[in-house]
Amino acid sequence: MDYLLTDTGRENLETLLKERSLYAFDFDGTLAKIVSDPSAARLERSVRFWFEALAKRAPTAVISGRSLEDLRSRIETTVPDLIGNHGSEGPHVVPEAVQQVRETCRGWLQLISDRFQAELAQSGVLVETKSYSLSFHYRTVDRRDEARALISRVVTQLSPSPRIVLGKSVVNVMPPSAWHKGTALLECMRRRGCTTALYVGDDETDEDVFGLGDHRILTVRVGKKNTSSARFFLKRQTEIAQVLRLLVEGCN
Ligand SMILES: [Mg+2]
Repeated sequence: MDYLLTDTGRENLETLLKERSLYAFDFDGTLAKIVSDPSAARLERSVRFWFEALAKRAPTAVISGRSLEDLRSRIETTVPDLIGNHGSEGPHVVPEAVQQVRETCRGWLQLISDRFQAELAQSGVLVETKSYSLSFHYRTVDRRDEARALISRVVTQLSPSPRIVLGKSVVNVMPPSAWHKGTALLECMRRRGCTTALYVGDDETDEDVFGLGDHRILTVRVGKKNTSSARFFLKRQTEIAQVLRLLVEGCN
């Protein structure tokens, strides 16, 4: 992993500017600072300024775990592509596919409540139902190893086998046919006629983009992490304004 704000990083950004590139960003922890109350997350003035300027010059996208409606209310600016729910909501998604994903989640939930409800309740694991995924939370559980073993036992019973994304004290499961940030970004590039892309993110779900291993995508993680598949890193979230500014000034 290399630091982006170096000569090598700048050269990589300049290469993108020569192509028809898509500039895509995660929201929380990337464009917006992480705040303790998620409903208070906003774009800082300089980020908003440079992001708007970039969006006027080149295709841009925001790909977030938030719902599309929530995201729209926070961006309040002209970004052609807003993608919510880790890729499951946005202009690229057809209603039939969404229906299928919802039905899979409903089936899983039924199996969980039929066979594991008592055990889960006893261990303190909470099952959160989202429209396009289920989340097993064990943040407040004392016997964490036992909770993880139980969750893993439940997850292996789910059919079709889910895609699993581990978070902090949470196990997220998604239907295999559901979009994720990586597939959503590729589809977004295709729709916008882009041959290359930049993607910046800070979290586990952003590894779905970093881990594509697609040489056309310049991958950047906010915060250095050796196990990440991203090619570059930024030291802190506030550096995103500088990246946007570099892109805008190079876009002239
Ligand atoms: Mg994030």
